Parts: sequence; structure tokens; C-alpha cells
Amino acid sequence: MINPEVMLQTPDLIHFLGFLTIAMAFTAKQRQWIIDRDGGKCQFPEPHECDTEHPQVHHITPQHYAATVFPKLNPDVSTNGITLCKTAHVGKEGVHPDTFQALQKYRKGEKSAFAQMAEERQQKLKGRTIYWVDKWDRIFHAKALMNDQLYVAKGQVWPEKKTHKKVEPEDNSLSRMKPLEVEMVES
Ligand SMILES: [Zn+2]
Ligand SMILES: [Zn+2]
Repeated sequence: MINPEVMLQTPDLIHFLGFLTIAMAFTAKQRQWIIDRDGGKCQFPEPHECDTEHPQVHHITPQHYAATVFPKLNPDVSTNGITLCKTAHVGKEGVHPDTFQALQKYRKGEKSAFAQMAEERQQKLKGRTIYWVDKWDRIFHAKALMNDQLYVAKGQVWPEKKTHKKVEPEDNSLSRMKPLEVEMVES
């Protein structure tokens, strides 16, 4: 059993999630590029207890949603990534409050909390329902685009993946992955 406390703070999950993750997520180099592009700073627009020590990269349109609803879209482009602190990303008032709630339950001993959360997301996904708080999406997109243009103008080249395996909806790994892995990949 992978400890979610550790997982939530682990920036690079690729080594134990295998090739599937590479197909479904930014690479470590890409994540670092986005963090550097954003000046290493959380881009959340509202006042919050910003924890800048562990910047995370959020998919503005999350991978599994993109794979299901927009199957021709590659979600792992630089302008679909934005740097957020842990509070803004997976905190109570952040973009993925279900992660916060699951962690609370997990800490109280509900070991299936993340599996339940993954199942709830899966159900929402089936109904094409958004399973994150999307009210900042436009702001995130605009910031990502602006920061991207400025950074690329400085000569910074986006590190493309060596291979990109397109994820088809019927090949949606949500059904094949263990729930905890689903949750951690999908952020
Ligand atoms: Zn922050
Ligand atoms: Zn996220």
C-alpha cells in the first residue's frame, strides 16, 4: 500500500507508476519547466495560506477528463499546466477539495478513502461532469499562456516527450489502475 501522505508530496510518480503515467502526465522535466516558467511561484489568484516550498503542477484540464471528453486533445502541453502550492492545489479551498476530504478520512483510519474518491470521480466522468473546482480555469489558462509566451521568448524550449501515447477514452486507465494510483496521477 502506497502511503498517500507521501504520494501527495512526491513530485515524480513515474518511477512506480510505469509507462502509463508517462502517457498520462507531464514528465519530470516538463513539470520543472512549468514551475520555472511560473517563476517558481504559485499562480492561485485568491488570498490563501500559500505554501511555496513544494510547488505542484496542476493540469488545468485534467488528463482523464481530457481523455474522455476531448479525446483528440493532448493535455500535456505547457499551456495546460499551472504552478500551484499544495494549499491551492489539494487544500480544503483549493482546486481538488475531494483530495483534501479523502486525506482527512484516510487520517481518521478510512483506508479506502482514496479509492472512494476515485470512484466518485469516475462516476462524474461517466456523466461528463467536472470533478474539480473549475472557477479559476480561465484565469489559469490566461496566466499559463502569458507566462509561456514570455518564457519562450527568452529562448526556453518546452521539453517534448520522446514518445507520446495518445490515451483513448476506451483505453482510459482509470478502469485499469488501482484507485490510489488513479487519484495520484490525476491531479
Ligand atoms: Zn499558493
Ligand atoms: Zn490538479
